Amino acid sequence: MKSGKTSVHSFAERIRGLVQSDIRRMTRECERLGGINLGQGICDQPVPDLLKESAIAAVRGDLSIYSKFEGIDALRQRIAEKMAEYNGIRCHPDREVVVTVGSTGGFVAACLALVDAGEEVIVFSPFYGYHVNILRLCQAALKFVTIHPPDWRFDPKELERAFSDRTRAVIINTPSNPCGKVFSREELDFIASLCQRHDALAITDEIYEYILYDGHRHVSIGSLPGMEDRTVTLSGFSKTYNMTGWRLGYAVGAAALMEKIGLLNDLLYICAPTPLQHAVVTAFDLAPSYYERLRADYARKLAVTCEACEEIGMRPFRPQGAYYLLVDVSGLGLSSDLDAANFLLTRAGVASVPGSSFHASPLDGKQQVRLCFAKQDAHLEEACRRLRRLAASPR
Ligand code: GLN
Repeated sequence: MKSGKTSVHSFAERIRGLVQSDIRRMTRECERLGGINLGQGICDQPVPDLLKESAIAAVRGDLSIYSKFEGIDALRQRIAEKMAEYNGIRCHPDREVVVTVGSTGGFVAACLALVDAGEEVIVFSPFYGYHVNILRLCQAALKFVTIHPPDWRFDPKELERAFSDRTRAVIINTPSNPCGKVFSREELDFIASLCQRHDALAITDEIYEYILYDGHRHVSIGSLPGMEDRTVTLSGFSKTYNMTGWRLGYAVGAAALMEKIGLLNDLLYICAPTPLQHAVVTAFDLAPSYYERLRADYARKLAVTCEACEEIGMRPFRPQGAYYLLVDVSGLGLSSDLDAANFLLTRAGVASVPGSSFHASPLDGKQQVRLCFAKQDAHLEEACRRLRRLAASPR
């Protein structure tokens, strides 16, 4: 407890050190300079017509009032069916599914409900900064385990050492942001065995679950034996249906956990936007070919982006999934990732995100930037043309 009253411009201890993310900062810079944004994972492709029509119908039909805090029945029912089919997770639609404000909303509710100040949480690095900062807000004690380029493996011994009887949770993000690692069944079996040995939870963000390359398969740790009661699985609609601004996701897990996550969801958000909940029910009517096309489109965009990078001496680390590319920029001959991101933005008009913001040791990202290739073809091709022109220009 602090003694005395703090001044009006002092802030809560829990946000000490919190600054605007590099993802946001680069987007603002990019807008200011009129560049093409390959920084933030915006995903500017069109929403499928079916979903647009359902959203319009929901608004016209005045489906505009609060839903239950856990979401509308029809949507939870379809999510539960999808979880059984695609993720191999059986869940009860009424007690084990909560519709959230984006998967990030689910992550916030899960962390606030489950992680106490000072409890240990294991995070793989490189990581998605929002995961880490939300955990910091919960005052968790973070333990990082490195995943190593170029194939993004972790050392099982290092992970084993990170686990202890004080471990509350391990965070999984598969396919992962920013490096595109897809955790294999064997890796997840190993993590699951450690969770069980140390009585820890797994909180897993699987928002990129349909975006996979080179035959990689998505496995949910929540589907593995012994993990039913100790896993919170998060996913959502943003990335699969190009609706990052709709802010619709969901959390799935054992009823005992979901009851409290639902309470937090109520307290923080009341519910996810109701007309949009009605709209995304129809997402589950899209044919399997939609998902095949999604994968093929991203594989093509990935190839185009890699080619442009290589032509100008930037070395991409091939992702196994998701729609980001971590790129080694040492070939540009600049002294840091910040310089490289600035150079790409001011000289080519292409925004990226400096690599250091994704690593537990910022030095590990000092010669990396992250590019997002979830762009309409015309914009991506123009960005690649601009990058190529750099080959001829002096540093
Ligand atoms: N997940 C996206 C990214 O990593 C967007 C996140 C954000 O805008 N903060 O870029």
